[in-house]
Amino acid sequence: MTVRVRIAPSPTGNLHIGTARTAVFNWLFARHNDGKFILRIEDTDLERSKSEYVENITSGLRWLGLNWDEGPFFQTQRTELYSAAIQMLLDQGLAYKCYCSNQELEQMREQQKARQEAPRYDNRHRHLDASQQSEFEAQGRRPVIRFIIEEDQKITWQDEIRGDVTWDTNDLGGDMVVARASESDEFGVALYNLAVVVDDIDMDITHVIRGEDHIANTAKQILLYRALGALEPVFAHTPLILNSEGRKLSKRDGVTSIDDFRKMGFLPEALANYMTLLGWTPPDAQEIFSLEQAAAQFELDRVNRAGAKFDWDKLDWINSQYIHNYSTEQLMELLLPYWQQSGYQINQIEDRDWLLAITELIKGSLKRLSDAPSESNVLFGSTIQFTQEAIQQLQIEQVGNIIQDIAQRIDSPLDSSAIDEIINSVTKTHNVKKGLVMKSLRAALMGSLQGHDLKQSWLLLNKKGWDKPRLASALELI
Ligand code: GLU
Repeated sequence: MTVRVRIAPSPTGNLHIGTARTAVFNWLFARHNDGKFILRIEDTDLERSKSEYVENITSGLRWLGLNWDEGPFFQTQRTELYSAAIQMLLDQGLAYKCYCSNQELEQMREQQKARQEAPRYDNRHRHLDASQQSEFEAQGRRPVIRFIIEEDQKITWQDEIRGDVTWDTNDLGGDMVVARASESDEFGVALYNLAVVVDDIDMDITHVIRGEDHIANTAKQILLYRALGALEPVFAHTPLILNSEGRKLSKRDGVTSIDDFRKMGFLPEALANYMTLLGWTPPDAQEIFSLEQAAAQFELDRVNRAGAKFDWDKLDWINSQYIHNYSTEQLMELLLPYWQQSGYQINQIEDRDWLLAITELIKGSLKRLSDAPSESNVLFGSTIQFTQEAIQQLQIEQVGNIIQDIAQRIDSPLDSSAIDEIINSVTKTHNVKKGLVMKSLRAALMGSLQGHDLKQSWLLLNKKGWDKPRLASALELI
């Protein structure tokens, strides 16, 4: 048997982290088993589906490296299959036309609420006769198609992640609407559960791996598989992604779409790596691995049942590992847009070596690509903001003379040994500790007492001719 799995996003929003993580698990499972990974766009909700979301979803999956083998298939192009299935269910008496108005349904729910019962359709149109049907038709009512869910049955399946799952058909809300009335189509518009089952049968899907929020749907879908005379696939329900308070990660947590993560400066391979760990534990407990390496080891029995807490620190750490492993050249190219967006004047050709040196200098401190501007802003420009601490340092006795002396000795351009020489001879001339010279120089050049390697930073400023003006403005503060 060839393993065939799918990711079936609805294009009603951008590619969501939950969908992307489900895609990762499906991709890993397909690759591990030499199977096929299929992309199906579930766009039957015409009002909320948008082509820009389809674009966002497909480009997001590609960006993450989750290439698919078949598709994208669009449900809106497959409606004939759904109509045929509806016809078959109607013909076999497994589904029927329900003419209840919204008002009636609303009333039904209110009464159930008053009796403190769970809301459910009471199956009142299950056995309408032909004359009752024509009466409703004559009133101009448009029916929905409901699939019969027999009461008092137990639906059981062996979930690859959750073990035995049993669902009572009394808890499925009554006979299920599988198609909504439509002016243009006799059978109406097929709804999610029916379309999914018809597609999964047609596409020979062997394993349905999806979020645990679909468990109740699985129970309903199993009934549909049986009604349509097909074998059910294997089901595996992945744990939800939770925020730090243990609730489902949502828009309120800042980011949820893959685009947001990209804009925040996460690398695709780091994000894919992190998502793999959101619910799966590799047998060797490794934390940094490529999708291919994970695929070699990926089994559903190592997917946890408990919700997976989203941990920003861990994601940052993983991202930093990838950043640190990039060559300086490659990393510089990735950082360039972030510098450009911050408005720094950069000439990509003339400044190449200078930018490479900055990249080398700040690389070790970057957690996200977007940290580059804040990690390097002190290296751009002739003017600088001084922190209070730096000003205090500059006002220590003798510091003014030291800075002035240094400024006079700058005979641009400097190299590393010229810098050593200046520092050593100024230390000697003023008969002070080298530490005082270094600290004061940092305050004067960088405007702060903390920062990256001072000598390297000075060399970079010197290349641009920004060191002298900075020392001059420091002297004005003394
Ligand atoms: N369109 C559904 C969703 O986006 C797919 C669920 C499934 O995998 O069956 O949640």
